[in-house]
Order: sequence, then C-alpha cells, then structure tokens
Amino acid sequence: GEMRSVNVPEAIETVLALLQHKLGTRIAVERRLHGATEIHCTPALLNQVVMNVIGNAADAIPGEGTITVETLSDGENDLIRISDTGPGVPEHLRERIFEPFFTTKPVGSGTGLGLAIAYGVVQAHSGAITVETAPGGGASFVISIPRRAS
Ligand code: ADP
Ligand code: MG
Repeated sequence: GEMRSVNVPEAIETVLALLQHKLGTRIAVERRLHGATEIHCTPALLNQVVMNVIGNAADAIPGEGTITVETLSDGENDLIRISDTGPGVPEHLRERIFEPFFTTKPVGSGTGLGLAIAYGVVQAHSGAITVETAPGGGASFVISIPRRAS
C-alpha cells in the first residue's frame, strides 16, 4: 500500500461505523481527538490496526461499558490510545498477546492474529504498539507512529 497523510479522526469514524453492529448500544464510545490529526501511513493498514484493537476492546467488555479513543502527540510521535472498561490484560500475558495465534478466546471465536498483525503493521511504519493498564483497570493500547521527518 501507498504511504500518505491520513486523517486519523476520519479513519477512526470509518472503523467505528464498520464495528457498529458489534458495539450496538452495549458499548459507548468516547472520543478525545486532539493533537496532530494527520498520520503518515498506509490508510488500509491503519484501519486494520484500529479495527483489531477496538474489536478486542469490545470483546473484553462484559455487559455494558465504554471504549475511549484518543489521539495525541508527544512531539516525535503521533499516538492513538484505545482504552476499555474490561478486565485488562494480566501482566504475565502482555508480551504473549502480540504473538501469532495467541488467544484466550474459545476455540473458533478468536484466531489470535489480530494483535500480531497490528504489531507487524505498526513496526512496518517504524512505530510501536504497547499495552498498559487504563485508569479504571481496563486495557489501554497505545499505537505510536513517528512523525514524518520532512
Ligand atoms: P483474538 O482476538 O483472536 O483472541 P488478538 O491477537 O486480537 O486475537 O488478541 C489476543 C489476545 O489478547 C486475546 O485473546 C485476549 O486474551 C488479549 N486481549 C486483546 N485485547 C484485549 C483487551 N482489550 N482486554 C483484555 N484482553 C485483551
Ligand atoms: Mg482480536
């Protein structure tokens, strides 16, 4: 795919529209979109990454909950943070979840490839994807893409 400047809030809305059937009224989405709104990347790949991470957040939330999607920048990198009100990722699994075929979902319902793909895509953009604990105890995934040197 071709690298170009992608409007992140637009990409996020595209993905949220595609996931609407999965989110329904069960999950509220909170948007905190600030900082740089353009990321230099391959559009379809960015969508794929955001889709995988938001889809996982929806899977992790039992019953009703909230997914918060935030864009920010730290001067060198543009960041997308996706946090949820689920149970979070236990410390001892935080590296393994990025391995291909690692899943804690029932047989047939998870391929274990979503985060491995996200990891590969982000690396191909010289960026990083990490997981932290959200303030409420849920998972918080941070996708970091370096700003284009120009
Ligand atoms: P899959 O969704 O098919 O299981 P992924 O690679 O997308 O595969 O995710 C791997 C595993 O990481 C999940 O099975 C789950 O255990 C864990 N995980 C991913 N996102 C979250 C999240 N938001 N909260 C808790 N656990 C998560
Ligand atoms: Mg997944």
